[in-house]
Amino acid sequence: MRFATRAIHAGQDPDPATGATIVPIYQTSTYTQSAVGQHKGFDYSRTVNPTRLALEAQLAALEDGAYCSAFASGMAATAAILNLLSAGDHVVASDDMYGGTYRLFSRVLSRYGLDFTYVDMSNSNAIHSAVRPNTKLYWLETPTNPLLKLVDIAKVCALRTPGQIVAVDNTFATPFFQRPLSLGADIVMHSTTKYICGHSDSIGGATISNNSELAELLKFHQNAVGGVPGPMDAYLTMRGAKTLALRMRKHAENAQVIARFLVTHDEVERVYYPGLDTHPQHELAKRQMSGFGGMLSFTLRGPASRALDFAKSMKYFSLAESLGGVESLVCHPGRMTHGAIPKEDRDARGVTDGLLRLSVGIEDIEDLIEDLQIALARTAQDPVVRH
Ligand SMILES: *Cc1c(COP(=O)(O)O)cnc(C)c1O
Repeated sequence: MRFATRAIHAGQDPDPATGATIVPIYQTSTYTQSAVGQHKGFDYSRTVNPTRLALEAQLAALEDGAYCSAFASGMAATAAILNLLSAGDHVVASDDMYGGTYRLFSRVLSRYGLDFTYVDMSNSNAIHSAVRPNTKLYWLETPTNPLLKLVDIAKVCALRTPGQIVAVDNTFATPFFQRPLSLGADIVMHSTTKYICGHSDSIGGATISNNSELAELLKFHQNAVGGVPGPMDAYLTMRGAKTLALRMRKHAENAQVIARFLVTHDEVERVYYPGLDTHPQHELAKRQMSGFGGMLSFTLRGPASRALDFAKSMKYFSLAESLGGVESLVCHPGRMTHGAIPKEDRDARGVTDGLLRLSVGIEDIEDLIEDLQIALARTAQDPVVRH
């Protein structure tokens, strides 16, 4: 089965009880047993639920994986992966990643005796020199958030020694554009909240693997800790994922047009998009990804306050956290998604107060360009520098 076919058919068999073509929302916590221990494979919905199982089969198929565990959020999925480690273990992580992941690592898990080193993972020498004898996990995000840097997944996998795990947060690229497992990664993690669900109407996460041992531990954690999605959220995610191929093509097409538009605009200082041939890792992007995705960031010329004015002055780009929905969004990472990172650390990493991030939706491109043109003109003419 090819990708778009898998998205529609994997895990989506007719309901065995009724023949319903669409997987039903099994809104039940428990299952009646005919005698003690005699049931149809389902005993309690934290452990197993038919709607969630169908979603897990679908997501595993999309990532070329054998096993998937669905979680109540991307953060719950990340926490499950980090729970594979024990006190005293060390993690090498990207210095440019989702702010919530950084918060989980630095403020929660570091109290449990895990050690983290944050490096520029686009530089494999930096990764190499961060490795310690107790390094257990490489945590990758590629493209990174919000600066759209790339990490060479195959190269990191080549550094891995037995017992070490390579985990990739594939939320930005989605399996439509990038398959980390086929590049050698052990585990893929998703915030399904974003492109996979694609309609900004549910929160969810997932881990996918081909390693049965790791998958079993993740499944154990899913049940033991209990960060599971309810059947309604599993259903919404599954429904959204059916159109992933169509949506991702359009997200990337629109983002490419917007990146080219911004790059040539006088008011724009810098554009971060892996699809531009001026992107420092454009060649890696072409090799590692089959498309460049729908996320891009840019900085405006002039005072940083201009970015804040710009962010609130658009018609179709809603000023909001999150990404990956059909509708376009704009966000100010410094004040929003990455607010948990101290300002000096943000500045050092390039997440300056002038930086804006776009999640380019699948609206008509002419409307999106017009919206950007108007906002650029409006903020350019504003003579007042606000602080
Ligand atoms: C949103 C996001 C997360 C966290 O996922 P939630 O579903 O919000 O818990 C993790 N990684 C990336 C790249 C994200 O964009």
